[in-house]
Amino acid sequence: MRYPRQMTLELTAKCNFSCPYCYCVWHEYPLLAKGELDMAGWKKVLDKCASDRVCSILFTGGEVLLRPDLFTILNHARQSLPMSRLSLFTNASLMDEPSIKRFKSLRLHLATSLQGLTTYGSMTGTALDGERLRGIVARAAELGWPMTVSMTITSANAFEAPDMFAAAASSGAKTIQLNPVMAGGRAVSHPELMITRQQWERVKDRIRSLPNKRVPYSFGNEFICKCRTDAEMSMLDKWGDGATGPCPAGKSFGTVGPNGVFRSCIHSLPTSFAAGANIHTNESPNGGEHVSVRAMRK
Ligand code: SF4
Repeated sequence: MRYPRQMTLELTAKCNFSCPYCYCVWHEYPLLAKGELDMAGWKKVLDKCASDRVCSILFTGGEVLLRPDLFTILNHARQSLPMSRLSLFTNASLMDEPSIKRFKSLRLHLATSLQGLTTYGSMTGTALDGERLRGIVARAAELGWPMTVSMTITSANAFEAPDMFAAAASSGAKTIQLNPVMAGGRAVSHPELMITRQQWERVKDRIRSLPNKRVPYSFGNEFICKCRTDAEMSMLDKWGDGATGPCPAGKSFGTVGPNGVFRSCIHSLPTSFAAGANIHTNESPNGGEHVSVRAMRK
């Protein structure tokens, strides 16, 4: 199969945070993260991106900076796709000034997440308070390479969403993206974090009414991935928005997971998995494991 024009590459499933809302599908289906590609495997994926004329690649994880070979992979990406837009999403815990400068020299756009102020530790499963993260966002802006900052709004941090927005804006965020927590990944085990559509609309109104926002911002409105054929009907009824149009996932954009297997988006499962087959498909340039689907879900 030919890769879509916009791709997300999940370079690793490893992460040094334990965000309770983390959307990564391997928290539900651990075997989707098994058999992580090595550097040669990712170079093959990037070569396929180049031959399929992919115009935009987002590198993410897990936490991408945990890969010791990250910059070798990124250098290969820039060499093979000189004109493509390259971006990287990181929790920024391992970022520093030299790495910001290296990303800038590779023309690699940066994005991170600010998941709370007083709630930052509980929203990331760490003992951190987010101050270092805001310092990194500020330093990147000072170095002329400002970062996009995203925020996942849950029942726990919704009360301080306007303060989170103001903190990101005053730190020098390039743009701010706000999304409601989605029913997927680790969030499936934390239904108490879900918010209602009404609560989400109230958060949006409070952000819109902030004075002097000074930074472009956008809202996501997805509460559940409707492509997830394993989603329970009760959840679809609760959060589905009734949209009937075809989802562009898999056509205009797609994802390659840590094991090299193609999925239509970061929230979805491999096609063969959804159909009830095993996860090894010829969509993976590097092959995959033959695994019984029934054994996959925790
Ligand atoms: S949301 Fe990101 S930082 Fe948090 S646990 Fe998941 S991969 Fe790690």
